[in-house]
Amino acid sequence: MSENICYRDAYARSVEATVGAIVETERGPAVVLERTVFYPGGGGQPSDTGWLESLASADGPARSWTVVGAAKQDDDVLHVLAPGSDPPSVGDAVRAQIDWERRHLLMRTHTALHALCGVVWRDYGAQVTGGNMEPGAGRMDFEFERMSGELVAAIEAAVNRELAAGREVRVKVLQRDEAFAIPDLIRTKINLLPAGITEVRTIEIVGLDLQADGGTHVANTSEVGPIRVTGYESKGRINKRIRIALTGQG
Ligand SMILES: [Zn+2]
Repeated sequence: MSENICYRDAYARSVEATVGAIVETERGPAVVLERTVFYPGGGGQPSDTGWLESLASADGPARSWTVVGAAKQDDDVLHVLAPGSDPPSVGDAVRAQIDWERRHLLMRTHTALHALCGVVWRDYGAQVTGGNMEPGAGRMDFEFERMSGELVAAIEAAVNRELAAGREVRVKVLQRDEAFAIPDLIRTKINLLPAGITEVRTIEIVGLDLQADGGTHVANTSEVGPIRVTGYESKGRINKRIRIALTGQG
């Protein structure tokens, strides 16, 4: 089982670990490590990219491998190497390092989407039904029949006010029963979680938004900077989509 530091410390950029296994995937050889900082993807947030590095030893010089993506396989995280890579050996010590610039941009983007959810729920009572993101931009779908261009402009202004307010972003792990007792979490459909799950990880933008969530986020909304609504569209009579992009520097 790979220990994943990213869930409790989203700011960890690298970790030393021992290679536990090498797995062949469709994309290329993949490395399983005893611990990692790579987010394996999920909940609309793409997986991390980065590098594995081994130090020079009596057996040979330092080596480096490009990690083109990560994925979860049972309890392990696969670090997928570029096709044709000659992977490290089981038992080797390596340093796993994420592309921090890209990850931090994803953390800012992900946190901005939570602020958008929080504002749309608080001001209009509209539930989120899905979302997706890339570094610097994302979209969310809502059950939001009366959405309009005017409302979207008001939403953009409200989200920017909340981000600029410097709200703390808290990560918690709750027992299943505890999580199911929180009405705000029920609306984000944690009742869809598999019955076997005993713990629920929550992300709270203090005073604005609370969600069951597996992704990585910044610690304070001020780190996100301002956003712009780049588009909105109807996906049907009730379902509406809002697209946003970050406009500031992290
Ligand atoms: Zn999230």
